[in-house]
Order: sequence, then C-alpha cells, then structure tokens
Amino acid sequence: MIFSTAAGIRGNPAHPTCPPKLLLCTDLDRTLIPNGAQPEHPDARACFREFCRRPEVTLVYVTGRHQALVREAIADYDLPTPAYLVADVGTRIYDLDHEPWTELTAWEAEIARDWRGTTHEELARALAPCAELQLQEQSKQAPFKLSYYLDLNCDRERVLGWVTQILRGLGVTASLVWSVDEPARIGLLDVLPARATKLHGIEFLRRHLHYARREVVFAGDSGNDLPVLAGPIPSVLVANADAEVKAQAQTLARRQGRRQTLYQAVDGPFPLGGNYAAGVLQGVWHFVPALRPFLQAIAPPS
Ligand SMILES: [Mg+2]
Repeated sequence: MIFSTAAGIRGNPAHPTCPPKLLLCTDLDRTLIPNGAQPEHPDARACFREFCRRPEVTLVYVTGRHQALVREAIADYDLPTPAYLVADVGTRIYDLDHEPWTELTAWEAEIARDWRGTTHEELARALAPCAELQLQEQSKQAPFKLSYYLDLNCDRERVLGWVTQILRGLGVTASLVWSVDEPARIGLLDVLPARATKLHGIEFLRRHLHYARREVVFAGDSGNDLPVLAGPIPSVLVANADAEVKAQAQTLARRQGRRQTLYQAVDGPFPLGGNYAAGVLQGVWHFVPALRPFLQAIAPPS
C-alpha cells in the first residue's frame, strides 16, 4: 500500500465521480521513455506496465515518432503495446488490435481537407528558399507532416512569420509546432494540417471510442504537447519537463481557464517520484480517484 503514503496528492475536485474506464494517452520521448537528463525511478516502468494490464485501462501512445520508431521504442524500453497509436505528431492514427497495424482512414480524410490538395512535395518546394529550415530525414516525414530542423540560435519568430506567409499564399491551413530536442540541442518544426494536432487526434479517438473527457488522461513533456496540456482534456505534465515548458503550460492553461485540467507532477510526495512513467501514474492518481486502489496495490519490487 505504498501509494497510501502519498500525502499532498489530492484528487481533482472538478472530476469527483468514479469513471469505470480510462483512455490513458501518453507521449513517448521524455514522458514515458526516460531519455532525458533526469533520472527515472527504477520501478516506475514496471509499475506502469502492471497498471496498464488493468481491464479498465485502454492505452494510447501519442507521439511525434512514426510507426517503425514506436515499435523500436516498445522493444528497447520494454513498454506495453498500446491499443491505439496517434503517430507522426497526430497526422496518423493506428488501431493496433491486429498485425499489421491498421491506419484509421477516417482521420486522414479529416485532416487532408486543411491542405486543399497541396502535396508534401509541393509544400517542401515552396518552403525551400528559407535557408534556416533544414528538412529532417525522409523517415521522419509523412504525407501530412513536413518536419524541419532549426538552429536554436536562429530568429525563430522571423522564420515562423515567413513560413506562415508562404502557407497563407498557398491557401493551406496549417499549424506550426515548435519543440526542442534537448539531447541534440536542436529545434524541431513540424508543419501540419491545422486539424492534425495531438489534441485533435486524441479528441477524434475519444469520440470514436465513446469516452467522455473525464475518462481520458493525457501525459506529456514538451512544446508539441502544449495544446493538449492547456486544453480541455485532463492532462499531466511530467516533473522532468523543462522549466520553460512548465511555465508556458501554466500560462496557457490559465489564459484558457483550464487550470483544473492541468496537473503538474512533482518529485516530492509520490512514492515513485514524478519523472517519466511515474509522472504519468501520478497524473492518473490525481484525476481518477476510482483507480487509486489499483495504484495502491502496485508495490515496487525492492
Ligand atoms: Mg516528449
């Protein structure tokens, strides 16, 4: 019953009911996968795996990774295989019930409208004159995702302004998602159909699977998670997230009146700490009181 010692972690008064099911949506890199600078509790992932075996839990990975890199992460980090995968920063959704994983074509049709028939190649050609934008490897591109590297020292506002103008001229409705690859110290810019955010992907899947918002918990750590973290879905920001992202998430959530649906995992009171998988579980503890007995029953091996 080690979780019963977690004094100071209290349930969200906005969600006092006991939902019988949970759509647990989590980012991978530096959220569930401990590939950041901070340490991971040695029992965190084993506890996460055990928790995800519960029949109440439907697990979804929501990630910038493409399918092959998700498979690699599952093998390398001994992660549970999820029921669904929102991949390529929300531009593809897969049902993982059977091999091969099946793409939800209804989602692709939904987001394709934003680009009004403009192809990936045509957009890349239009943005090529900007020297600061360096296209990422082919494996990181997708039909509805242009991914660029951007030096952290460049004038980001100027570049994003220029990209916005070009896209507007083409009649393309896009969202620009900026994040930082901390280990590599490089900026990442994704140009996506406006509807193809992680937030819209999760909302689409939630409706598709008939979950109420209070039956969903999202966990994330970085810039491309911010629209979800500051949105209407109960969300946890893991403790190992950057101070800048923590501040941005709090500011955005406050502005949008969403402070009740954003939880900042902390390193203190939770037995496993608040980094990575432990932070995800801490968020479940916070938002879903009905599942606390299962968390309490998970005793980390000594
Ligand atoms: Mg991440």
